[in-house]
Amino acid sequence: MRTLTCDILVVGAGPAGSSAAREAASKGASVIVVERRAAVGVPVQCAEYIPAPLIGELRCGRGFVVQSVKGMRTFLNGRLLQQIDAPGYTIRRDVFDRMLADEAEKSGAGILLSTIAVAREEGEVIVREKGGTFSRVRAKVIIGADGPRSKVAGWTGCKNRNLMPAVQARVALDRPMEYTEIFLDDRIYGGYGWLFPKGNEANVGVGMKVRGSGGEIGRVLFDLLARLSSGGKISGRPLDIVSGWVPVEPGGAMRAGSILLAGDAAGHTHPITGAGIPQAVIGGGMAGKWAAHAVDRADWGKLAGYESEWREFFGETLERATSRRRLLESNWDRLEEIVKYCWVTFKEYHSEYE
Ligand SMILES: Cc1cc2nc3c(=O)[nH]c(=O)nc-3n(C[C@H](O)[C@H](O)[C@H](O)COP(=O)(O)OP(=O)(O)OC[C@H]3O[C@@H](n4cnc5c(N)ncnc54)[C@H](O)[C@@H]3O)c2cc1C
Repeated sequence: MRTLTCDILVVGAGPAGSSAAREAASKGASVIVVERRAAVGVPVQCAEYIPAPLIGELRCGRGFVVQSVKGMRTFLNGRLLQQIDAPGYTIRRDVFDRMLADEAEKSGAGILLSTIAVAREEGEVIVREKGGTFSRVRAKVIIGADGPRSKVAGWTGCKNRNLMPAVQARVALDRPMEYTEIFLDDRIYGGYGWLFPKGNEANVGVGMKVRGSGGEIGRVLFDLLARLSSGGKISGRPLDIVSGWVPVEPGGAMRAGSILLAGDAAGHTHPITGAGIPQAVIGGGMAGKWAAHAVDRADWGKLAGYESEWREFFGETLERATSRRRLLESNWDRLEEIVKYCWVTFKEYHSEYE
């Protein structure tokens, strides 16, 4: 079995992994990224919305933007409750992820595709490469950026415990739209439906806690598609359907020894909206920066800086969202009454619930 050696091994080339790799490599660390997919960013399992301020955090062009979005409309049980301005973009997530990976490579990181981290033995990571050959990777620091069902988080004992399934259809839009639409609905327990316009198409999806049969979420999605179709917003059959998992509760520690967790692997997705791209990009960058710093000083205590910086930046937002998710789930039969305390665009969300 061959042995690869590097300062920092990053598992996963999603937004968190590529951002970590770029940051660490640009600070002089030798970085290897292993990615189980054959091509970065494919298939897309995302509604592809990013808030406008995230663009300022990126060091690449805007080639991934499909359209700009003016704001959001929120519906409760089919009734329009609110329309707000909140600038953002819908993007091509495959192009976005590829651009971040390119930035990491330009900074000096090496990305091994079709390569899966399968185990950790005596401090080394065993990876299975294309064709089935196994190799060992010896690294001073490991960054687990391998998504919601992270293998690396399993090694630290901090696996995501609260995952919500999401399913989404790509459909034709009847006419272009400038607002995203959110559907809070008694039938979508603990989650919501969405329509995110993307040029002539839209991503229409549902993320929800499933209480009954596994088929429930699919039926809810098809009901939503039928309603949007009869309402004249979309037409035709779905062009494709994707599904995925969304962590809806931040994990425990983000560090265990010389392992850091970033992005969905750390459960950094927003527990109410399910959005995780900003946390993956910004938090991944922080993980890469502190890992490089620790390697440079040969001082593993420096790794603690990652968790402190992350908590300062995102901690309060995710804590509030976690408590609002508890309120939402435990008072679902009173959705009409609590909705404004449980959805991010209402002013009540930011005040205390008595
Ligand atoms: C249906 C859906 C819609 C969403 N819509 C939005 C949205 O509109 N906006 C938003 O902000 N967020 C959205 N999210 C959440 C967002 O997609 C995630 O928060 C984001 O992808 C997290 O990035 P990441 O880099 O942490 O993980 P990922 O993007 O999941 O990347 C992890 C990478 O690790 C690789 N990997 C996994 N295991 C291994 C292994 N053992 N070895 C090697 N490689 C491995 C995977 O192949 C993958 O490329 C959505 C999620 C879902 C499911």
